[in-house]
Amino acid sequence: MEKRFVYADNAATTRVSQSVLDAMMPYLAEHYGNASSVYSIARTAKRAIEEARGKVAAALGAEPREIYFTSCGTESDNWAIKGAAMKLAAKGKKHIITSNFEHHAVLHTCEYLEKHGFEVTYLPVDSMGLISPEQVEKAIRPDTALVTIMYANNEIGTIQPVAEIGKVCRDKGVLFHTDAVQAVGNVPINVKEQNIDMLSLSGHKIHAPKGIGALYIRKGVVIDNFMHGGGQESGKRGGTENTAYIVALGQAIEDAVNGLDAKAARLTKLRDRLIDGMLKIPVSRLNGDPVKRLCGNVNVSFEAVEGEALLLRLDLKGVCGSSGSACTSGSLDPSHVLLAIGLPHEVAHGSLRLSLGDDTTDEDVDYILEVLPGVVQTLRDMSPVWNGGR
Ligand SMILES: *Cc1c(COP(=O)(O)O)cnc(C)c1O
Repeated sequence: MEKRFVYADNAATTRVSQSVLDAMMPYLAEHYGNASSVYSIARTAKRAIEEARGKVAAALGAEPREIYFTSCGTESDNWAIKGAAMKLAAKGKKHIITSNFEHHAVLHTCEYLEKHGFEVTYLPVDSMGLISPEQVEKAIRPDTALVTIMYANNEIGTIQPVAEIGKVCRDKGVLFHTDAVQAVGNVPINVKEQNIDMLSLSGHKIHAPKGIGALYIRKGVVIDNFMHGGGQESGKRGGTENTAYIVALGQAIEDAVNGLDAKAARLTKLRDRLIDGMLKIPVSRLNGDPVKRLCGNVNVSFEAVEGEALLLRLDLKGVCGSSGSACTSGSLDPSHVLLAIGLPHEVAHGSLRLSLGDDTTDEDVDYILEVLPGVVQTLRDMSPVWNGGR
């Protein structure tokens, strides 16, 4: 069989699309004016930024003035959580509720706040990776400032009952933030219908470049600034606007929500075929909910296989994936997400995440299913702990 290049790590980042490149390039070389200046190349930039703001707002069911551009999803999470914490601490509210399997942009922000006098409740997820609205309701106290629960998990793809969690928070008068970086462009979102007060998103997960994000802040919700500086973004986020990347994000999110249903249906079919094929490999298990799951997310554990070794061998075959273990941080600890859903360390270590996207084809899935069983078997043959699946 002929070797192919298969990019199956779209949850880590995506290729910048041609339509996004076409939209953004003129703002680097031609309309390079500072959007706050008065002459015409600056006014062109300003107009483009407001047009992009309108596109982001439309994709979320929000109003343009509720959208603030940031440098990335991580900044949006930091701003929402620290900004709300600082604002509400002044009213004696110093309690935050989150889950134990959030992205580190949320978890490490919460840990930082714990060092500065805030109390954080980390709700446990169930074996599928789900949080229930009842859990959130029970955890809310008179001094709760904020609930922050991710919309969809980046490792195992579980989609939370966001509207119901939002309803509980709204009824109790508690702010609700959601990290929707993985959800945008994959599931339909409407911040009004889903009772969302703040929502983080990132450009590079939806075919815009790395280094651009946005935060939706519902009209009437006031949080402290995170970036202090000039009067950009209605005085709430200083820093000269990154016009080209803002235009890119506007184009990317418009493309992402255009025909979303058809795209999701196509990817769901590919995903389920890939999952079914991968589970034919002996002693394997699917991580995350089989149905309440992002349309492009596949996460499977193989017993007696080391995740990093699996990735390197797949790379030799031309396949880009990701493993559950967080070796990037210099530690060999398995993923906190896989531990949170109750996987033993050794099983969590042998996990493979494949995330499909707009570019993924039927042939890509065929190819993965052709090479993967052999790669897993080779690693098991070398493993001192593999017992033949008995
Ligand atoms: C990628 C990601 C982030 C971080 O976004 P950046 O733009 O890379 O900072 C945050 N949360 C989730 C769920 C993500 O997948």
